[in-house]
Amino acid sequence: MSLSLRFLGTSASRPTVERNVTSIAIVREGETLLVDCGEGTQRQMMRYGISFTLGDILFTHYHTDHVLGVIGLLRTMQLQGRTTPLRLWGARGLGRFMQRAEALCGERWGFPVEANELDPGATIARTGYEIRPFAVDHRGARALGYALVEQTRLGRFHPDLARAHGIPEGPLWGRLHRGEPITLDDGRVIDAATLVGPSRPGRRVVISGDGRPGDETVAAAAGADLLVHEATFGDEEAARAIETGHSTAREAATVAERAGVRRLVLTHFSARYTRDAAELETQALEVFPHVTCARDGLEIEVPFPVQTEEVGAER
Ligand SMILES: [Zn+2]
Ligand SMILES: [Zn+2]
Repeated sequence: MSLSLRFLGTSASRPTVERNVTSIAIVREGETLLVDCGEGTQRQMMRYGISFTLGDILFTHYHTDHVLGVIGLLRTMQLQGRTTPLRLWGARGLGRFMQRAEALCGERWGFPVEANELDPGATIARTGYEIRPFAVDHRGARALGYALVEQTRLGRFHPDLARAHGIPEGPLWGRLHRGEPITLDDGRVIDAATLVGPSRPGRRVVISGDGRPGDETVAAAAGADLLVHEATFGDEEAARAIETGHSTAREAATVAERAGVRRLVLTHFSARYTRDAAELETQALEVFPHVTCARDGLEIEVPFPVQTEEVGAER
């Protein structure tokens, strides 16, 4: 089950020659979701091979560097003859924003566009995972971060052991895999733990959006496989970060450290930082060891945690 993120834009506020404004594509087993859609996102999608058949766009907030691209993207979808619905998600205000966007285009999109307004604590249920928005403190905006949380997977089923126990292939295998004990025709009772490994946790990916480092982000990211946190500024602009409702790289690393995540990716850099944002990475590394500064086009795979498995062990 593949899960990866593609950074389509990594610049704060305005694009630079090397960085577009914010958008992140999440690709999970062929399904694509966008988080934010800054101006020019559709060209970045073409450049980096992100499908226009995507079904969902999640907005962290409605500052222009996160939303302006949606108008052009929807217009292109319309020209492509799209008929399938597009689901938009974001905090309150999304419906009004989309009405204005539609008015600007002077016509309807030609395919259903759902604007779903969310409160922190809501859950978007999907097949195999869910998306949980959480509150982020960003200059009084109703800003949301998003946690993508996969369901726990069934333990690994061992057909060789099932055969060795003389269990016929068929419905009994399915019941064992789901953790149910079975009784064979000869009266033997087989406990699932004897031939099914322990259940395996799903992955958790958390995207902060714009904002100050916060307890809600720490809670949402607890034990996450990947935290994507904004790092608009470096240490020398710490006061400015507070003033503008953003985070420094060091503050983002502190969130990662407190939450105990496996990996931190920084993004949303002020235009003053160089292409590789090396100084921001250095500052974050002083707090947390597993840091990457995103650049446009960067793809981050999210593997399952390595799990040692003992069949028949305590679960
Ligand atoms: Zn922004
Ligand atoms: Zn913002």
